Amino acid sequence: MPTLLLHHPKFLEHETPHGHPERPDRLRAIDRILEHERFQSLERDLATSANDEQIARVHPTSYIQHIRASAPEDGLARIDADTAMSPGTLDAALLGAGAACTAVDEVMTGKVSNAFCAIRPPGHHAEKSTAMGFCFFNNAGIAARQAQAAHGAERVAIVDFDVHHGNGTQDIFWDDPSVFYGSTHQMPLYPGTGALTETGAGNIYNAPLSAGADGEVFKEAARTRILQPLKDFRPDLVIISAGFDAHVRDPLAELRLTEADFSWITYHLMEIADQCCHGRVVSVLEGGYDLEGLARSAAAHVMALMDA
Ligand SMILES: [Zn+2]
Repeated sequence: MPTLLLHHPKFLEHETPHGHPERPDRLRAIDRILEHERFQSLERDLATSANDEQIARVHPTSYIQHIRASAPEDGLARIDADTAMSPGTLDAALLGAGAACTAVDEVMTGKVSNAFCAIRPPGHHAEKSTAMGFCFFNNAGIAARQAQAAHGAERVAIVDFDVHHGNGTQDIFWDDPSVFYGSTHQMPLYPGTGALTETGAGNIYNAPLSAGADGEVFKEAARTRILQPLKDFRPDLVIISAGFDAHVRDPLAELRLTEADFSWITYHLMEIADQCCHGRVVSVLEGGYDLEGLARSAAAHVMALMDA
């Protein structure tokens, strides 16, 4: 069965202030590298928008209304110091959440073996009622609820290797033992959460890493603090918050991962998914701000997924 790639040209219409790292060129770089013939066997599909019912499983209706009402007709509307909406942002955010839900539908029904959502804006900093850190809707969280509500999944895991801690995902599932959240991230770094002691209902697994940590340190932390508890959790679906800003070239952080490390973690997550849930993996793009590091890392990640 193929790997599904969900994309949409409207993701490029979410504009950010001049010089902002979370820019349309990020997806252009990924689109370009995935044009290579070694990705020919990907099943490519256009994203469709999430509906309010799907989003409301994670975000209160009042918050969805607030985001809708904040969308500008022209120019940029500031949501916080580093998060802004352009006229194309709302559609892109709805399509991103929708892509994550479609990926879950296709993977849970066995139509594809796994899926990668090449989407923006990212999602893992979006808390239940707060847009922040370039994020509006928590795509991975919405995907987890889609698996539970529409497909009867009992236990869903979200593994987040973005260099920043996914405070939003942790916030959403803090007291919900049916969802496992495991994160490797640099600490201290934005947003400041993600300490080892933050364990929620015993379902939160944080593996903070110091600036300068390389692939070996990352692998050891991932193995002991994330992968082992993930196996014990026995997920019905593994969702990946796939940020590639832990790459050595990334300008926003100081970890020293390479493409091979992203390939490594992807294979290990696929192996656990094979053991627990017929290989069901849904990956959603989060951060990654060096265009070359991002494109090469995303390519390594997708190559691994295609090897299912
Ligand atoms: Zn990040």
